[in-house]
Amino acid sequence: MHYDFVIVGAGFAGSVLAERLASQSDKTVLVIDKRPHIGGNAYDCPNEDGILIHLYGPHIFHTNSPDVFAYLSQFTEWRQYEHRVLASVDGQLLPIPINLDTVNKLYGYNFTSEQLADYFKTVGESIDTIRTSEDVVLSQVGRDLYEKFFRGYTRKQWGVDPSELDKMVTARIPTRTNQDDRYFTDEFQYMPLHGYTKMFEKMVNHPNIHLKLGTDFKAIKDDLSFDELIYTGPVDEYFDFCYGKLPYRSLRFDHQTLDVSDFQPVSVVNYPNDQEYTRITEYKKLTGQEHPKTSLTYEYPQAEGDPYYPIPRPENAALYQRYKDLAEQQQGVHFVGRLGTYRYYNMDQVVAQALTLYKKLIGADSFHDVIKS
Ligand SMILES: Cc1cc2nc3c(=O)[nH]c(=O)nc-3n(C[C@H](O)[C@H](O)[C@H](O)COP(=O)(O)OP(=O)(O)OC[C@H]3O[C@@H](n4cnc5c(N)ncnc54)[C@H](O)[C@@H]3O)c2cc1C
Repeated sequence: MHYDFVIVGAGFAGSVLAERLASQSDKTVLVIDKRPHIGGNAYDCPNEDGILIHLYGPHIFHTNSPDVFAYLSQFTEWRQYEHRVLASVDGQLLPIPINLDTVNKLYGYNFTSEQLADYFKTVGESIDTIRTSEDVVLSQVGRDLYEKFFRGYTRKQWGVDPSELDKMVTARIPTRTNQDDRYFTDEFQYMPLHGYTKMFEKMVNHPNIHLKLGTDFKAIKDDLSFDELIYTGPVDEYFDFCYGKLPYRSLRFDHQTLDVSDFQPVSVVNYPNDQEYTRITEYKKLTGQEHPKTSLTYEYPQAEGDPYYPIPRPENAALYQRYKDLAEQQQGVHFVGRLGTYRYYNMDQVVAQALTLYKKLIGADSFHDVIKS
């Protein structure tokens, strides 16, 4: 069969574009994914005990975009959820991002917010030009908090010292002088009520959309007939790594179920220092599911494996730019998504990026026209 569009990847980028092109523009679409399921990294499923887990690590939806929220709300109801994370430091579980309670509990102080702001001024190191992740944190909270909360975590997570990592990595993490212990402050913070996969099922459930799962695009591309290609896989792989491999950080997930109903006080606890894993997620605290057992995921960062996090270093950005130049020369091929554009995007940013590409493809004037049902 001939398709108007072939889309490689059934994650957020691919599914949003398939849904829009099929339902709003009456295009025929073939979505291919090498994994045996839709949803990409946001895929969730019940495990053997019937507890809903995220196979590729915890995914928490948050956005400041009313358009992205309105668009996704066509495919799911939501469960209100504000993410809170604790970090295991010096034998205590303390709020991260660092806030007033973190510092008071860690050092046994009784600071007010004003006193904490003064304290940060005293301990924060003066650095002329903030370039690296280390510079960001040292300048904000000083060396002791940097070493206890950030250095070890970042080294584990990225495999390099924060002094070698672009400032954007830790610039994403705020420092607070009040008691706000929310991980995100976005206007919309929710989890899909019945999970991500149910939401994706609704998105791709359209007669114009055909799915081919468990199939690598490379293996079948010569047999396909289509007008345009949307590629959400790794851009370097598309070009057979002609300029070399774009570096990614990967993860090993150790999923466990315990015969207890409750394991930790919040859904995610970070382990910056002594353990090999970076964090433990307890899913019931994300999803609100009730069950006599509880399921956890331990995350072990590693160099090899599925590409998860583009490593933000200047030489990698320069290498990506070469692939981007090549991508822009392709006729009828569009690169989108976290892997297609080698960017550390959250889910809402990928949805916005995909809707923006759809807007361009159909020549729409306003975003409002793009998200309507
Ligand atoms: C551990 C972890 C935790 C995260 N937590 C959050 C969070 O809490 N909140 C948040 O907003 N974001 C989070 N994210 C980011 C989120 O996963 C991404 O923003 C989102 O999944 C990107 O969607 P995508 O469609 O671009 O890519 P993906 O979801 O990666 O989808 C790409 C798909 O393409 C397929 N593919 C690739 N190559 C081929 C090929 N050759 N042939 C066929 N198929 C191919 C892959 O199998 C994959 O399914 C997290 C990411 C990770 C790794």
